[in-house]
Amino acid sequence: MLITTGMSAPPIGMMISTPSANAIAVINANGVHALSAARKNAVPKPIIASPSARFSQCCPGNTTGAEEKRRKRLPSPASLPKAMTEPEKGHNGITAFIIETDKPGFSRGRKEPKLGIRASATSEILFEGYVCPLSARLGEEGQGFKIALGVLDAGRIGIAAQSLGIAEAAYEASLQYARDREAFGHKIGEFQGISFKLADMKTRIEASRLLIYQAALAKQRSKESGGRYTLEASMAKLFASETAMFCAHAAVQIFAGMGYSKELPIERYFRDAKITEIYEGTSEIQRLVISRMELGLR
Ligand SMILES: Cc1cc2nc3c(=O)[nH]c(=O)nc-3n(C[C@H](O)[C@H](O)[C@H](O)COP(=O)(O)OP(=O)(O)OC[C@H]3O[C@@H](n4cnc5c(N)ncnc54)[C@H](O)[C@@H]3O)c2cc1C
Repeated sequence: MLITTGMSAPPIGMMISTPSANAIAVINANGVHALSAARKNAVPKPIIASPSARFSQCCPGNTTGAEEKRRKRLPSPASLPKAMTEPEKGHNGITAFIIETDKPGFSRGRKEPKLGIRASATSEILFEGYVCPLSARLGEEGQGFKIALGVLDAGRIGIAAQSLGIAEAAYEASLQYARDREAFGHKIGEFQGISFKLADMKTRIEASRLLIYQAALAKQRSKESGGRYTLEASMAKLFASETAMFCAHAAVQIFAGMGYSKELPIERYFRDAKITEIYEGTSEIQRLVISRMELGLR
């Protein structure tokens, strides 16, 4: 599980924990309402974090397994705070829970040193005999996988928007540099090798923007229709994240030596862009989602 502390605005749809909230919750289109909804459906029976990475139901007060410990580094989006309550049922055996981070048995482990997005802390989280009452259940039993997929749909639009921001920053800096920087007696923007890069950056940025608007509109409409917007969200995330990487890569090339230097933020755009192709589902997974939906095959 990754802890995104409140140092940068977390994109909608990520599982987050903030020092003030003292809880890990799934933030989705309905915000943290999921938390109170879960509490309303409270069933007062605790479950205990077990070393097998599964939660087992126990009688109140029974904390069998003193050394119960669970360590998680970079989980997939569907892993926590969800637990296999009935493994034999596959996806239907997964249930989501809210984890209270100020309760005994929960702790943060080592901070993960990262390539980029360093203003956002990422760490291991540890469960050692953590007792999770069923009142902390999010949604119904067996609905965890469905909840995770819903969260991912929304989260992917957030990552797409993050990607667009990085791409635009890289583009705007590059445009200015191409107008200002001279080499061999010319503005570098006069060289086709540079100007064509700018044309491709601009075109991909505007295409990303339209895909993001389309996904946001589909999400808005889904509130009335109750439908999903998986395809629109995946396409926006896939294209915008690859655009961020494309633009950041081109920007380093346009700035050349200065692009590689820590003196300017260009190298940071390059490092920050990469994560957008990874979290909330890698580019390969987005292609899998899109192609399966189009083909209607599994
Ligand atoms: C900085 C950071 C922050 C994160 N924040 C969060 C967070 O807040 N919440 C959260 O839940 N998770 C978070 N994650 C986890 C992130 O979502 C996963 O790392 C990501 O989904 C990829 O999973 P994985 O690393 O296990 O890669 P793997 O699943 O091991 O994949 C390895 C490679 O195989 C490819 N691959 C895997 N399966 C398939 C397939 N079926 N078809 C084709 N290719 C495939 C992948 O695309 C990838 O290239 C974060 C990760 C990082 C690095």
